[in-house]
Amino acid sequence: MSQPTLDVLNPATAEVIATVPAASAADVDAAVARAAAAQRSWAAAAPADRARLLRRFAVVVDEHIEELAQLEVREAGHTIGNARWEAGNVRDLLDYSAGGAERLLGRQIPVAGGIDFTILEPLGVVGVIAPWNFPMPIAAWGLAPALAAGNAVLLKPAETTPLTALRLAELALAADLPEGLFQVLPGEGPVAGSALVEHPGVAKIVFTGSTRTGKHIMTRCAERVKRLTLELGGKSPNVVFADADVEAAAASAPMSFLDNAGQDCCARTRILVERSVYDRFLDALVPAVSAVVVGDPADEKTQMGPLISAVQRDRVRGLVDGGREADGVRAMLGKAPEGPGFWYPPTVLAGVAPDAPVAVEEVFGPVAVVLPFEDEADAVRLADATDYGLAGSVWTRDVGRALRVSQGLRVGNLSVNSHSSVRYSTPFGGYKQSGLGRELGPDALAAFTETKNVFISTEA
Ligand code: NAD
Repeated sequence: MSQPTLDVLNPATAEVIATVPAASAADVDAAVARAAAAQRSWAAAAPADRARLLRRFAVVVDEHIEELAQLEVREAGHTIGNARWEAGNVRDLLDYSAGGAERLLGRQIPVAGGIDFTILEPLGVVGVIAPWNFPMPIAAWGLAPALAAGNAVLLKPAETTPLTALRLAELALAADLPEGLFQVLPGEGPVAGSALVEHPGVAKIVFTGSTRTGKHIMTRCAERVKRLTLELGGKSPNVVFADADVEAAAASAPMSFLDNAGQDCCARTRILVERSVYDRFLDALVPAVSAVVVGDPADEKTQMGPLISAVQRDRVRGLVDGGREADGVRAMLGKAPEGPGFWYPPTVLAGVAPDAPVAVEEVFGPVAVVLPFEDEADAVRLADATDYGLAGSVWTRDVGRALRVSQGLRVGNLSVNSHSSVRYSTPFGGYKQSGLGRELGPDALAAFTETKNVFISTEA
């Protein structure tokens, strides 16, 4: 029987740029055995040696930033500027995590009758299942801390974006990481992804993707009590108070939901504006959205590229068309290229009902709704009125209000007078149905360990 394959398309042209073999359940099984063998030696190695190899991996990635970025442009349609940042994020995270290999500190706790200490041990083989919207960084968020903590990693990239992942695995070998320690298994979610989730030799799954698939994986992991981190969808609010620098808030809002063509789990797609400045904000927002340069992602001047696929574009179109049909809805559309490729224009909807699907469901496209609110309590209530809780922004000049609203919003990543959510050195993850557990930051390695407590009697 011939091996199934995956076609990789350039989303800007709809052309097939590569065809890669798709892993079967048997391939996953063989990969787990190789990874388990490599992990035993890796865990036994001196932490300083693990750190040294991960730093070398970071150097090799650094030497290939441009190549990786160009690959990301072609397979994911990301703008070249973003793609360079993404490759740099992989490098930075490898470097940052390397230091952790020697700082996985246990604890000694005073007890009666003996000495008691806790140690942190690696889990074994970790499965990382990644989405297509940020293929490189999200792979690295699992990969780097898991390796630093002494684990092996099997990475299943999304069907549409396996190329940068495959290249990273080659670069790991070029940096002298042991054979088998980090393997990439391109394949279909329900086949290769599912095989990782079900495999008894995989100790933990790190899943980033849709809330729907995340729930399914959670139930599968529950049957084995398999460790699990979930990074899921978002519908993040951008709350603009009347006391804010309204023009600055309006100027920054477009790229907070148009970056990566809106295919960003942290996209600020629900713009909530205090009613007294609602019209003023919209007047400033609409021209700023129209001015966003949409086109060839390889062009340095481009700010927004295509969507990942025809399926995604049709989904976005369906949600927007549904939202536009209601009475009193105003739709403001920017420009997008015609012709081949999966293009959709920047879109702002005003006048939609706060509970309309387009206002509460993740669109994952270049689309925001603008909703008015009356006061601080109303803003917090409206901001919280979705099942998601990943990120959010608050624009105000009042420090007390900034702190109150920061405490009131049930989101994992909040920014005040900014839209910044992701730094490799700070924790990242969601409240509610946006996720489970945290990645990045100083505690990232601990999520790839078990805690063992040892008591030694001094009375024997
Ligand atoms: P998806 O859920 O369709 O797929 C994600 C991954 O899961 C892919 O690799 C896919 O092949 C795999 N998969 C699918 N079915 C599976 C199964 N039954 N068993 C095992 N694996 C399976 O998500 P997507 O469309 O690729 O990604 C977009 C979603 O990811 C959005 O909802 C976005 O918000 C979310 N996301 C979240 C974060 C975060 O950090 N919270 C970051 C980026 C993206």
